Formats: sequence, structure tokens, C-alpha cells
Amino acid sequence: MPDEIDQVQQHVNDLQAEQLLRHQLRREPDDNSGIECEDCGDEIPLRRRRVKPGCRRCISCQEKFERGGII
Ligand SMILES: [Zn+2]
Repeated sequence: MPDEIDQVQQHVNDLQAEQLLRHQLRREPDDNSGIECEDCGDEIPLRRRRVKPGCRRCISCQEKFERGGII
């Protein structure tokens, strides 16, 4: 019954695509960003959170992190 298997597989693919789409639509910068810097605890400016969704550090800590200063 290969046809049935294909249909189920197609259904699963559709569901996954739909979930992914919903997830993307719902995603807003502030939802997955830290409000406070992980390293120094300072508040991360809203502007930075909008520009860099998902950021967890303030600008100076992020720069240090990217230079490898904090691991
Ligand atoms: Zn910081």
C-alpha cells in the first residue's frame, strides 16, 4: 500500500510546514531576546533587541564575547 504511506508522509510534511510557518509568523524580536544582558545584567536597549532578535548580551559584552574574551 505505497500510496497510503505517501499520503501519510505528505500529511506529516504539510503539518510540519504549517507549524514552521506559524512559528515564523508569531516570532517577534522581543519574544526570544533577553531583556537583561546575560553577562553584566544591564538592560539591553530595545533598539538593539529589535535589530538583533535573540541577542542575550548588551553591546559591549557581545563585542567581548565575539572577540573570544568570555567563554
Ligand atoms: Zn553586558
